[in-house]
Amino acid sequence: MIFLVLSGPSLEENLKTLNQCRNHIDGAELRADFLDNPFAEDIAGFFRRLPGLPLILTLRRPRDGGRLALPEDERERLFLRCINAGDFRYVDIEEDAHLPAVEARAREKGAQIIRSFHDFEGVPEDLAARVRSLARQEGDIPKAAVMPKSCRGLERIIDAARELSGFKKILLGMGEYGFATRALAAKLGSYLTFASSGEEEPAPGLVSAKTLDEVYRCRKQGPETRVFGIIGRPILHSRSPHIHNAAYARLRIDAVYVPFHIDSVQSFLPVMKKLGVRGLSVTSPFKEDIMPFCSHLEDAAKIIGACNTVVSGDEGLWGYNTDAEGFLAPLVERFPGGLSGLNAAVIGAGGAARSAVYALMSSGSNVLVLNRTKARAEKLAKDMALSFGEGQKSVLYAGLDREGFLLLDDYRGLIVNATTLGMHPHEDEDPLAGHDFRGDETLYDMVYSPRETLFLKRAALKGCSRVYGEEMLLAQAHRQFFLHTGESLHTVPAHGAHGGKT
Ligand code: NAP
Repeated sequence: MIFLVLSGPSLEENLKTLNQCRNHIDGAELRADFLDNPFAEDIAGFFRRLPGLPLILTLRRPRDGGRLALPEDERERLFLRCINAGDFRYVDIEEDAHLPAVEARAREKGAQIIRSFHDFEGVPEDLAARVRSLARQEGDIPKAAVMPKSCRGLERIIDAARELSGFKKILLGMGEYGFATRALAAKLGSYLTFASSGEEEPAPGLVSAKTLDEVYRCRKQGPETRVFGIIGRPILHSRSPHIHNAAYARLRIDAVYVPFHIDSVQSFLPVMKKLGVRGLSVTSPFKEDIMPFCSHLEDAAKIIGACNTVVSGDEGLWGYNTDAEGFLAPLVERFPGGLSGLNAAVIGAGGAARSAVYALMSSGSNVLVLNRTKARAEKLAKDMALSFGEGQKSVLYAGLDREGFLLLDDYRGLIVNATTLGMHPHEDEDPLAGHDFRGDETLYDMVYSPRETLFLKRAALKGCSRVYGEEMLLAQAHRQFFLHTGESLHTVPAHGAHGGKT
């Protein structure tokens, strides 16, 4: 179940928020500690306008992350005022709070007690035992909100969830490492998960009700739901979950794809195993780190030196690189005669450049690599020359300087930006600033956020053909989806593919 956290300054504001999110939630938590004037609010009137929606009453103290800086007897008075005026389905009382009158009145009115504890510093070793000990009476719901600060912390939450399977509880991780526990709440057996109202997440880990419902389909998950995901750091603003989850929904696949903010591949592997993650997308900075953990690597990944897709099977992890194929996909239409013999330039020498050079050379193009740090361009060119051996195609390199610009004229059939220039937050930067296009070039920007970079805007003014990074992003996701699920994505429109990161 998805419960919306109501943290507005007045009940009127909270009602507006509720009405906006109503279709995406099963209930709400009234954080009465956020109300500007809680003693003056019309709680009974609030309930009259909300028939049937289960509500949790919470009056959090500052030490538990709340705003109610009142002496405990005043807090008790406010609790009783709210409980008497409204039909709360649940009342949240912290594990160490001594409020017998509140508990008694809540039970009299048929509310269940949520007995909560919060750890903002980490995840206790004995989390499962702590949760078990919280319930004092039959019907109480224990709640633990803890702050994993590494994959190890996340693993502890998963261990506790497994140990407490079948036991009614709310068990959630906070922060970036805890995000997966919120998106996978039903799969992990948490009674409910909390959500914010906004499109934008107000804090790392707290995601909007619409996103939890529509993207992660929290209300449809069950123990059998297959888990896929993307590992990276940072990762919570990745657009990949929007692409993959939309495709599962469209093809009616019982699966969910979640972002995992991780500290290292090694420490993530136990999490992967315990959650039964079937496949991963891998992004910065782990595309190389994952390779030693793969028992099989396809040639493209070996030659490019990076793996962006992993499939977990009986024989271990299989590693792939879908960037090269994704890179080529939009060029099929632009170059109907093929790329053989084309003179193409790639600007950059990082992972994206390596996949572009590999893809172009595999297709028979001659490539010029230009990079700010010439030594990296040299290394890339030499690595590729060694991998492809002597043949019809060649690879040259130069710095991103006068020498490079002179060579560029002969390689302008296709010019690829594989640097981070132009990408948010470097929107006003152009990898070829000062270089005039003639108008007969095809320009390909691997950057996809923003869609129209300065590089492509300048190209448009000269009448050049353009290829958008977003086209590659979708094409590489198509192959990942196929590797993960064995199903084809070609008929699925990729909703939400604009902006963000892989
Ligand atoms: P990376 O490994 O960090 O490489 C960054 C490259 O940018 C390096 O060649 C670096 O040059 C160059 N660079 C950075 N700042 C520069 C500056 N001020 N002036 C000149 N050159 C500069 O990054 P990556 O993983 O290859 O990714 C590059 C871009 O491709 C990113 O925007 C990424 O989002 C995009 N990408 C898109 C897709 C897609 O599906 N569309 C897939 C993968 C990547 P030095 O070597 O001199 O530092």
